[in-house]
Amino acid sequence: MSNLSKIKLMKRKEFLSLGSLATLGLVLGQFPLKAGSRGGFGIYQGTFLPVRGLCEIYINQGGSVGLFASKEGYIVVDSQFPQTISEVLLKISETGKPILYLANTHHHGDHTSGNNLFKDLSKGLVAHRTVPQSQKNSAEKAGTLGKQKYADILFDKEFQFDLTDQLVKGYHLGAGHTRGDVIYHFESDNVVHMGDLVFKDMIPVFRSGDGATIEGWINCLEKTSEKFDSDTKFIFGHAPTGPQSIGSNADLTEMKNFLEASENFVSKMIRDKMSTEEILQKHQFVPGFENRLTPARFKGFLEEVRITLTP
Ligand SMILES: [Zn+2]
Repeated sequence: MSNLSKIKLMKRKEFLSLGSLATLGLVLGQFPLKAGSRGGFGIYQGTFLPVRGLCEIYINQGGSVGLFASKEGYIVVDSQFPQTISEVLLKISETGKPILYLANTHHHGDHTSGNNLFKDLSKGLVAHRTVPQSQKNSAEKAGTLGKQKYADILFDKEFQFDLTDQLVKGYHLGAGHTRGDVIYHFESDNVVHMGDLVFKDMIPVFRSGDGATIEGWINCLEKTSEKFDSDTKFIFGHAPTGPQSIGSNADLTEMKNFLEASENFVSKMIRDKMSTEEILQKHQFVPGFENRLTPARFKGFLEEVRITLTP
C-alpha cells in the first residue's frame, strides 16, 4: 500500500469514528474510493482544483462541484452523487468549519443526487423556485423519489446569501439549459459557477421537456457575459478534463456561437425536410464545431433541438 493510500485509509478511519457523521461514514464504507477519471459509472476518486481565492472545485462524476470557504463556513454548489460528494464532505469536515448552505444550479440528477447527504446544513438548501418540482418529476420517472432532498430556500430572480464578510449572490436569468438554472457569483474572488449553462468542448445535454430552448440559453449567456468582465473566472458544469472546467468570458461566447450555429443547422434540416438519420450520414458534428465532437449525444441533441424549433 502506498503512503498516500495509508494516509487516506487513516483519514477515513478517523472520519468514521465521528459519530455525528455516521451516515456519511456508512456511505464511504459502502463505496470505497478508487483512483480514476471522469466517465463510466464506477466509483472514482475525484480531484480538487483551486479556482481563485476562497473558491475551488471538485471534479468527479456529474456536474462540477463548487466550494467557497468563507470565514463563517462553506457554501457548496451542487452535490453530484452520494458516493462522490462524500469525499467533499470528508474534506470539509477536516477543516472544522460548518457547511452553511448547499446551492443547486438546477434539478438534474448529476447535480442533486448527493443532496440528501447534507443533513446538517446550518442555513439551508438554495435553488430556483421551480427546481423542487422538476427534481420530483425526474425522480418519479427514475424511481428514486425516496432518495431526494429538496431545496428549502427558493427564489425567483435574485438571492443574496446572508454572510457577514462576503457577498455571494445567485441569479436566475431565464430558462436556458433547464427552466430553473441559477448561476452563483462569489464577488470577492470574482468567480461565477455557471452550472450546465456551459458545456466545454462537448455536445450539451439538451432536453425540451426540462424547459431547454436555444433562444433562452443564448439569452442567459449574453446576459452573463455583459454582467461580468474579462477578469471573471467561470466554473463550467461539464468539460473533458478538470482544468477545462474553469474558463473565461470567451468560453461563454464560444458556447453562444455554438448554440447559434446549432439553431441555424437544425433550422436548415427542417426547411430541407431532412431526417436526423440523413443528416448523421453526412455530419458528425455541427459544422465549425469539431471541438464538440460527442458521438453518443449528437443524435439526441439534434432531435431535441428540432422539437423546440418546429413550429
Ligand atoms: Zn444539467
